[in-house]
Parts: sequence; C-alpha cells; structure tokens
Amino acid sequence: MITISGFDRIGEENAFAVLARATQLASQGHDIINLGIGQPDFKTPDHIVEAAVKALRDGHHGYTPATGIAPLREAVSADLLKRHGVETNPDEVVIVPGGKVTMFMAILMFGEPGVDILYPDPGFPIYRSMIEFTGARPVPVPIREENNFAFSAEETLSLMTDKTRLLILNSPANPTGGITPRSEIEKLVNGLEAYPEAAILSDEIYSQMTYDGMEHVSLLTFPSIRDRLILLDGWSKTYAMTGWRLGFSLWPDQLIDKARKLAVNAWSCVNAPAQYAALAALSGPQDAVLEMVEEFDRRRKVVVDGLNAIDGISCKTPLGAFYAYPNIKNTGWKAKKLASALLEDAGVAVIGGPDFGVLGEGYIRLSYANSTANINTALDRVRTFLGTNKEKQTSL
Ligand code: PLP
Repeated sequence: MITISGFDRIGEENAFAVLARATQLASQGHDIINLGIGQPDFKTPDHIVEAAVKALRDGHHGYTPATGIAPLREAVSADLLKRHGVETNPDEVVIVPGGKVTMFMAILMFGEPGVDILYPDPGFPIYRSMIEFTGARPVPVPIREENNFAFSAEETLSLMTDKTRLLILNSPANPTGGITPRSEIEKLVNGLEAYPEAAILSDEIYSQMTYDGMEHVSLLTFPSIRDRLILLDGWSKTYAMTGWRLGFSLWPDQLIDKARKLAVNAWSCVNAPAQYAALAALSGPQDAVLEMVEEFDRRRKVVVDGLNAIDGISCKTPLGAFYAYPNIKNTGWKAKKLASALLEDAGVAVIGGPDFGVLGEGYIRLSYANSTANINTALDRVRTFLGTNKEKQTSL
C-alpha cells in the first residue's frame, strides 16, 4: 500500500467535471447548451495563430529561458505600463503555462502548517484547494451580494492576523462578475500597512473585461505594497486563448528568483511558439479584444434580463468578467442539485455556487460566453424546467 499525504485535502475545479459530463451527453445525442465552463466562445484572432505557426516555421521549437523569452517579458512590461500606467522591470515577469499556475506557485511558496491564507468565498476553487494542500489554514473572505459582490476592505482586514502570510484578491471576479471599487481597494491597501508580513496575490485575469464604464483598479498601482505584490494576469480570457496555456505574473524583487526556480523545477519553460503568439497578442491590434468585450456586454444584458424574468430568480448586474451569478434561493432548490438537474433534464450546463465556496449555496453561475441565441434558448429551458419541476424542490 502506497501512502501519500496531502491528497485527501486537495480539491478540484468542478467546471471541468461539468464540461466532461456535458460533452458526454452531447456525444450521446443530447442537445446541451454549455453555460458552465469559463472560456470565451470566440476563436483566437488570426494574427495570433499565424504568429505561432510562423514561430514554428522559423525554428522556434526549442527551450526558452525559464521565465520566458525576453521580447515577451518586455511586451508584458509595456502592456502593464499602457494599461495601468506603472513602470515594471521585465526581469520580474514570469511567463507561465496558464494563469492558474501563478496561484499554484504563490500558494506553494507561502502555504505551510501554522499560517493563514485569506481567499475570496465564493471564489475560484483552486485557491482553497491549494491552500489546504499546503497545510495552511484557509480563511475565507466573504464576498456578499448585498455588497454587489465587491470585497469589503473592513471585513478583509478584520480577518488578518500576524499569522496571515498571503491575501488573495480577485477583481473582476469569478464567479460573481463583481468589481471592487477604487475607494474600497484604497482602504484595504492603507490597512495592509499594519501587516507587513503578508504578501498579496492579485488575480487580475479578467482585468480587461469591465462594463458600464466601471474601472479596473490594479493593485499594481499602489507603491506601498509593490515589494510584496504578486500580479496574476494572462492571455486566456482576454485573447480567447484558454487552450494555449499561457499566463504571466509579476513578482516582487524578493520573490522573483524563487518563482524562477519553481519554473525550472516544474516546466522548464512555456511552449516556445505559444510565447511568440502571446507576443503578437500584446503587440498587435487590440480590435478583437474590444469587439469581444462589446459582444459580452450585449449578452450580459440578455442573460441578466432573462434571469430576472424567471420566477424565484434574481440576478444582480455583473460589472466584469463573463459570468452571471443569480440568487436562486426563492426557487427552493439547493444550488448543486439544481445545476445537476438542469444539465441532466433540461440540457443546460451551469455550475452550482457551492463549487466556489461555502457562501455559494443559493446561487448558480452561468457563463455568458455563448451565443445570444443559445443563451435565450437556455433561459427558456431554465424557465420551463423550474415551472414544471416544483415537486422536486427541497427547502434551503
Ligand atoms: N483566475 C481566475 C479567477 C479564473 O477564473 C481563471 C480561469 O477560469 C484563472 C485564474 C486561470 O486562467 P488560466 O486558464 O489562464 O489558467
């Protein structure tokens, strides 16, 4: 019998299990609309694909530096300057195989028994999974509907102690679509001065997906925390590149060499042609990004209006990302039971809120990265399903 420790604590991302089940049902001939997985339904823009093909033809098929090719790290710095107005050192950028890898690295660096790591709940499930894996204590920071799914500086700070080694923030947020306003971020950053031992991981993977004129405030713009800020961003969502497995992170001076060592130990370097594609994405035209965000914005209105027209459902208007996170408490259904029934009986894949944390009960997540026609059909199916399945309801 082989014994290994820690794996009873590691979790999963249920969106992948839902994707597998939805794909299986579709392959058996069922008509499934997938509003489960969080990935743009657009193609990677042509000039980006061509850059990868050209890179292979030009012979870029070997190892690269562990932290990424220099022109790409320079392009990331230029992008951060353009978007956030902040000068960064390309030598502190690490190109990683997916945004997720940055959180893996950061949590691995700081997590150990006896320390606390704070993370948003509901939030991306891998935060908690990895925190538990390291043996650190996961401390959920509640993200509340009544606060429009922004995090509260006061509540976050009230959970911090001298044991807090890492604070994870995510805005615009998955699964809620919430954006934390500048005033709240400023309040938090000021409060963080009392906890100089705590590093901050700011997950800004949806930084370019904001609506209704809402600004994205990067944690990078606050000099007082620069020496302990890890920035997570990448190409997956912005450029419709989820399957390329590409992301970038910026590390403070005191952590960059540790990050480089983790890269060398785990993946040596990111796939070389993909790095050239990433370079084309950052340095080429941005029209496709703008068009994609405009299309998400149109669908956002369709999904929110449609959800609010269904008996028992109420949905706050999300201000960022491409998720709607409706409150389903008045339908009487438990969230995961409803998500499963919608997939099996109504052909609509969504994710139950509890897959994002304990505060997720009473909510489901719908990704509106699907066509308006499919969204409308899915909403009709949800309405019909809830209208005809009252007998299966369980009270919350
Ligand atoms: N962070 C958040 C909040 C996400 O929602 C996701 C993907 O869904 C990621 C990070 C990971 O992105 P990637 O596909 O680049 O690993």
